[in-house]
Amino acid sequence: MLEAVDITKRMPLHGRRHGQWFTAVDSASLTLEAGKVVALVGESGSGKSTLARILTLGDEPSAGTIRLAGREVSGRRRADRQAHFGQVQLIMQDPFASLNQLHKVRYILSRPLRNFGVAGDLRQRIIELLERVNLTPGEQYLDKYPHELSGGQWQRVAIARALAAGPAVLIGDEPVSMLDVSIRLDVLRLFADLCAQDGLAMLYITHDIASARYFADEINVIYAARMVEGGPAEEVTQRPRHPYTQLLLESSPDPDRDSERTALPIVDAANESVDREQELAGCPFAARCPHAMPVCTEKPPPRTTFTDGHWSRCWLHEE
Ligand code: SF4
Repeated sequence: MLEAVDITKRMPLHGRRHGQWFTAVDSASLTLEAGKVVALVGESGSGKSTLARILTLGDEPSAGTIRLAGREVSGRRRADRQAHFGQVQLIMQDPFASLNQLHKVRYILSRPLRNFGVAGDLRQRIIELLERVNLTPGEQYLDKYPHELSGGQWQRVAIARALAAGPAVLIGDEPVSMLDVSIRLDVLRLFADLCAQDGLAMLYITHDIASARYFADEINVIYAARMVEGGPAEEVTQRPRHPYTQLLLESSPDPDRDSERTALPIVDAANESVDREQELAGCPFAARCPHAMPVCTEKPPPRTTFTDGHWSRCWLHEE
């Protein structure tokens, strides 16, 4: 449905580093298919949100191709943008910031319905959308303001607004991380329903590999701009090949794990950005990797494919 091929994003630096460039995303590829959830897992500063903006045409890639339903699209072409905005919808982390606090739910949902020319009784369509995201009975929510709703209800309104455009693809950028733990699972189940029953394709962006394991069909792990491992969710989480994926799993709570291993510290990749270009000359994880070898800082590791579409980029697996 939506395909990203070798997407790279380079940005100019300012201030004392004026004239230098920072690589936010390096040759990232992924494919979103109807009815499936693909997770993109990584620390803050790893390039996840930049890739989400590029996939929604909110930003231009420096290199690479985006295809929607097999057709190449560009944010520079007005016709492409209009079609893309209807088909690919972004759900942001903070529902309170993403929706206008001054308007009632009725108004917020009527705008995309009007903009995308959805036919039929507008009020009835809004009620259907509210009930599709489990806000029932829908009539009760029509005249509510944000301050009258809980965080979980407000995120459901944000999801209903995304559905109002009639999309084929949802991109959730940390869509449950600001919600109470008790309602995260309900919202993830709602996304799973939308994919399974309505055939939507979804990219679930998160720093929490445990939630990706239970929710996604496929997991891609990104570290310091570069995707380092990917494959079926069960395969990646049960048999992680890349040392960074192993670290992420060891650092995440898992009731199914037989014995508690020592959690390793997660470092915020954004703080390491000054060395990004140097890191990408080899393996970006080399400074933290317990298995690092001289070759790891000299050349980027090649991609090795295992069984069932599982792959990794690490010199340990080079044949
Ligand atoms: Fe570690 Fe080298 Fe593999 Fe990178 S390529 S994860 S530094 S062993």
